[in-house]
Amino acid sequence: MPLFSIEWVCEVLKSPPVGNPNTLVESVSIDTRTLQPGALFFALTGEHTDGHRFLQQAAERGAVAAIVKIPLHDLPIPQIVVPDTLRALGDLAAHYRRRFPIPLVGITGSVGKTSTKELTAALLRTRYTTLSNPKNLNTEIGVPLTLFQLASHHEVAVIEMGMRGLGQIDRLAEIASPNIGVITKIGYAHIELLGSREKIAEAKSELLARLPADGIAVLPAECDFLPYLRSRVASTCRIITFSGTGSPADVSVKPLEAREKGSLRLALDLHGHRHTVQMTALGSHQAHNAAAALAVALALEVPLEKALTALSQWPGAEGRMTSRRAQNGACVLDDCYNAGVESMLAALQTLASLTGPENRVAVLGDMKELGDFALKAHQMVGQAVAQIGLRLLITVGDLAQQIAEEANRNLQPGVPLLHQHFPTSEEAAKNIGLHIRPSDTVLVKGSRAMQMEQIVSALTGTP
Ligand code: ATP
Ligand code: MG
Repeated sequence: MPLFSIEWVCEVLKSPPVGNPNTLVESVSIDTRTLQPGALFFALTGEHTDGHRFLQQAAERGAVAAIVKIPLHDLPIPQIVVPDTLRALGDLAAHYRRRFPIPLVGITGSVGKTSTKELTAALLRTRYTTLSNPKNLNTEIGVPLTLFQLASHHEVAVIEMGMRGLGQIDRLAEIASPNIGVITKIGYAHIELLGSREKIAEAKSELLARLPADGIAVLPAECDFLPYLRSRVASTCRIITFSGTGSPADVSVKPLEAREKGSLRLALDLHGHRHTVQMTALGSHQAHNAAAALAVALALEVPLEKALTALSQWPGAEGRMTSRRAQNGACVLDDCYNAGVESMLAALQTLASLTGPENRVAVLGDMKELGDFALKAHQMVGQAVAQIGLRLLITVGDLAQQIAEEANRNLQPGVPLLHQHFPTSEEAAKNIGLHIRPSDTVLVKGSRAMQMEQIVSALTGTP
């Protein structure tokens, strides 16, 4: 199905007409390696490469037109010249989105965005044909590309929105026009760039400020910034609060029997009625994501029974906290995807819920991008290590050493903690096998830049 005509593109981008106005665009591409015939090619200028270098290739592969900043002489396809090709991508997606008057759920927050997005989409799919961004495509590129997937059969869309600074969520919300805005948490991610949690709250709440008059804001009940977040929502909007610890909230779920192996049972109190549901996804932090997802599903009138069934069947977001088997039989909790304070604390809690202290091993790498907050952040994780108790702590990277130092300062009397340090995950991968017993449960986690997956590969014997 064609998306639109070249004439429409020129109109939206306020460009003089080019080529045959009736030419139809079948898809949108920013990468000639995946470009399909019939695509509209956007020449984006990135840090490492410039899409303008691939214009000829785009034409050869069957692009019907290109959006460029600097036109290429003799290119055999029409070129629409704009001052900023990334901006044009967003503007076109914004106009395209407005052709589909369906509810769109925007999700942002410091942690849990992808998990909450996947879970929300899973719940909504029980009633609606739902579009959601694949994987972590949450940027000024990923969000428009997702929106171009909208088609007439879609009844609702769920869009994750990521950011690294002020103004970015505002732009994504301008593009996506959300009707429902979810803030997962106000934490510490990107504090290096923003300077304070107040600024982080301000940046995330740009989503709320963009909601329409009849919009719905879904907000974390226990957040210390809740009053501020409320103040950013227009008075005509509806506010739904959620809690993943059983605190008072419009949608409150409480993890039960957190120590039961591998699965999480949740109790949900709804208008005085109590329901329980067993989740397969690992980690009690999933209760928080589940509560947010349920709040959205119920607001969009998904029948509760269907939502609870989908919740119980949801396998967890790919690459986040997956249980794997080491070559020697130990259980490996692979959470290498990334790490910030909140997710480190959540992962340690999950480790503690799965096995006793004598079998707990944590391999923890540096948490990056924390600026002045880095020392405090690693110390917070060290305190959690001391509190839950581990057989062995393996730290990887300079910053992570602080985790061990703080853990040792806070150890309960008579509770030993073995500690091993490696400067890099490569070094750790070479030596890890010597330290792990078959009866261990081994959490592996660190920031993306730490490449902790090398350690998981060494343990499991898989590439
Ligand atoms: P990114 O900023 O990279 O897009 P994200 O906000 O999308 O991250 P997820 O990818 O869902 O978050 O999860 C990132 C990490 O945080 C994973 O390790 C995951 O297990 C953990 N996590 C997910 N939800 C929560 C939560 N509610 N509280 C704490 N940790 C969580
Ligand atoms: Mg994400």
